[in-house]
Amino acid sequence: VPELPDVEVFKRYLDSTSLHQKIGSVEVKNKKILGEVPANKLRETLEGQELESTHRHGKHLFVQLDNDDWLMLHFGMTGWLKYFKDPKDEPSHARLLITFENGYHLAFDCQRMLGEVDLIEDPEEFIEDKRLGPDLLELDFPSFRKRFGGRKGTIKSALMNQQIIAGIGNIYSDEILFQARVHPGTGVDWLDEEVLKKLFEETQRVLRTAIEHQADPEKLPDSFLLPLRRKGEKCPRGNGMIERIKATGRTAYFCPACQSQS
Ligand SMILES: [Zn+2]
Repeated sequence: VPELPDVEVFKRYLDSTSLHQKIGSVEVKNKKILGEVPANKLRETLEGQELESTHRHGKHLFVQLDNDDWLMLHFGMTGWLKYFKDPKDEPSHARLLITFENGYHLAFDCQRMLGEVDLIEDPEEFIEDKRLGPDLLELDFPSFRKRFGGRKGTIKSALMNQQIIAGIGNIYSDEILFQARVHPGTGVDWLDEEVLKKLFEETQRVLRTAIEHQADPEKLPDSFLLPLRRKGEKCPRGNGMIERIKATGRTAYFCPACQSQS
């Protein structure tokens, strides 16, 4: 499930493969992936232009075109990007296919169709319309603390709430809470300054470490919960067994020995 580190990896992939090349043709293979833009408008707008630059905000990726329009990519549950030359390398669930004049293709692949592609005028306006909170990697501690002030509910659901801070989902919220030794069911109003500070530091460290390792669970350090995020696995710190609970309708994995309920 693409969260901030995954989308940052997609951004760097797109930057290193697809920028500054003239687009020859565009194929919308499934219109359900589109937001408000009609397929023919997307095609007509993209063809003949180049992808100029990218900007990531939380789990959204914005790609600027020559004409200053922006392509908005949201990866849903299963979205990813693939750049390839040989048509036989096209991924099996390509929903949008951009073909460059150099003969290469960029596919937006999305098996479960929960992602979205749209054409927008201004990322700032889009972020405001969706009421997205600030991107977690562009946040300092005073702003982080302020975003949680006066909130109700559990820390697990607050971390995943894109309107408080943008970027974290079910998986990385578990990792951050494990690293900070905070129980997922802890009420936000129970968090004191020291715990909030620890949480903030762990959000930054966990996300940066994940990005450094291409957001690939198998490459993450042994001290991470993510590769072992299953019930009955041993805690990476050797203190206990991983357990699973439902928190606000989502499944949280945690170590009861390391993350005591307060
Ligand atoms: Zn533990």
